Amino acid sequence: MGVTLSAAEGNLARTAWVPFSQRRVIRFNGRILRARIRRRGNAAMMTRTRSTMSLILLLAVLCKMVTGSHQARAQTAAPPAKLSVHWEELTAADFREGIHRSQATCLLPFGILEKHGPHLPLGTDLLDVRYSALHGAEQEYAVVFPEYYFGQIAEAKHEPGTVAYSREMQLALLQETTDEMARNGCKKVIIVNGHGGNDSLLPFFAQTQLDKPHDYVVYIFEERTPSSGGPAKKTKIDMHAGESETSNMMISRPDTVHLDRAANESGADQHRQNLPEGLYTGIWWYARFPNHYSGEGSAARKELGEYQMKWWIDSVVKAIRAVKADDVSLKLQNEFYEKSKHPLDTQP
Ligand SMILES: [Zn+2]
Repeated sequence: MGVTLSAAEGNLARTAWVPFSQRRVIRFNGRILRARIRRRGNAAMMTRTRSTMSLILLLAVLCKMVTGSHQARAQTAAPPAKLSVHWEELTAADFREGIHRSQATCLLPFGILEKHGPHLPLGTDLLDVRYSALHGAEQEYAVVFPEYYFGQIAEAKHEPGTVAYSREMQLALLQETTDEMARNGCKKVIIVNGHGGNDSLLPFFAQTQLDKPHDYVVYIFEERTPSSGGPAKKTKIDMHAGESETSNMMISRPDTVHLDRAANESGADQHRQNLPEGLYTGIWWYARFPNHYSGEGSAARKELGEYQMKWWIDSVVKAIRAVKADDVSLKLQNEFYEKSKHPLDTQP
């Protein structure tokens, strides 16, 4: 009986019937090459018959596997009627369905970790913006990215608990985050901003999306507080941890509000810098509000918080609907990217 050895394409079925003692396994360049055994005379015929049988067997097994996987998929295919809006709570399959239901629209609520007067938690902006974004997404389905607080807060580095990343890190991390969201199907990313210190960073980030092609659009949603309507305000200066923000926290996370401590520090404007309007410095905030407190938290009340948070949620819902309906921005971006490759061809 002559035996020749050749690479046998890793076909287990072909060697399955060969007695173990007659099998050969060759290691070549780290790959296992199975021995194919050829026999002459009767043995050769037997080999062919057995090969055919093995092939039929293999096909049968494959058919069974395919049918089985279809059945398994059919059993698990039906997505739940109600999907969580939290990215981190979805299974991989439900995430796929979530992207489909959201029409590729995802929210990135953007908070910060910074002192909020003597009475509110460090994560006030994060907690509030997530409250409005999550409730908004529940009314108009969108997938909401997990906690994100890697923004601009250099001006509060003198206070305990502030986490201030470098500007390079802020931009790089935000770009990679939106890139990764888009790679996962979020072709419309709405950054819902909850922190005033990001008000310059975010439009700048959006502008720099034009520097090279992206297959998605970044939308910045900056509205947080109604400019009119609702219960009358008691205070004039109300920029940080004051009447409005404290009232909002009485709705989103009342358990973290220490109203009895709100008057322990001053949130008054200290006017320590005298420059005419039109001249800007980074130290302006510290010059006016060195306690990282602007306003009077003790003026807060639940009714104001209810009105403001409902307004914020409604505004998020309107923004999601507008973004879903927007079929222009991506088209224009693509047109722009193409034209920017050969500006001399651009005609007025
Ligand atoms: Zn705040």
